[in-house]
Amino acid sequence: MPRKKFVAGNWKMNMTSSEVAPYLEIFRRETEHVDTVDITLIPPFTALAKTSEILDGTQRIRLGAQNMSPELKGAYTGEISATMLRDLYVRFVLVGHSERRRLFGETDEIARRKIITALATEIRPILCIGETLEERQAGQENSVLEGQLQGALAGLTKDQLDEIIVAYEPVWAIGTGLNATPEQAQSAHRFIRDYLAKTWGTEVSSRSRILYGGSVTAENARKLLSQPDIDGALVGGASLDPRAFAEIVSAAVPAE
Ligand code: PEP
Repeated sequence: MPRKKFVAGNWKMNMTSSEVAPYLEIFRRETEHVDTVDITLIPPFTALAKTSEILDGTQRIRLGAQNMSPELKGAYTGEISATMLRDLYVRFVLVGHSERRRLFGETDEIARRKIITALATEIRPILCIGETLEERQAGQENSVLEGQLQGALAGLTKDQLDEIIVAYEPVWAIGTGLNATPEQAQSAHRFIRDYLAKTWGTEVSSRSRILYGGSVTAENARKLLSQPDIDGALVGGASLDPRAFAEIVSAAVPAE
């Protein structure tokens, strides 16, 4: 069965709750006709409730969170738990995003603990992995990807892996306007799928969705999304404009 494309918009630290309604009015109208792509919006925590309220349980556009505590509850001032996210109908959570790794010290082990907590709470993790420019220039991209996959997914069962989405996001392409060529991205996605196959078997790996992220725009989305192992996009900057993001969603609609 072909894998349904998945397009997610990570608003990062942008958008107040009062900006959500005008955004959604445009975005919903522009994507009204799309039912062959899984669409997820990933607002900042403070806009989750408003987005959830406006979406009102629609299955067509789902909700994700940008981060989550690996702990279930307790004395963790400033943290947000998986249960709190579930309470707002959040279905996905980003884990191991390069900005969290680089700026907030998120390690593969922390990513692994978040994944276990998310899965236990029926939130699907989107595990972000990717190499830096120096690592690519040194020809280390595959070993970096393998290390991140190993570190974050160690010990997961096949059933758990089935709930996970991997996003390949080369660090040098995030927010820089430089995107991987479709060939570079395809080669990394193939490597990731082969790793999943080697570890959990081809039945699971052939179902796994692997997203590309890194300066995806309405202009380059179609070529990237037409690669055989690219199953969707994780979009940062371009998702802040509802029309541009809707165009990226349209680029993911399978050809007749
Ligand atoms: C991201 O933050 O996941 C991302 C891919 O950002 P951008 O699209 O802005 O490069």
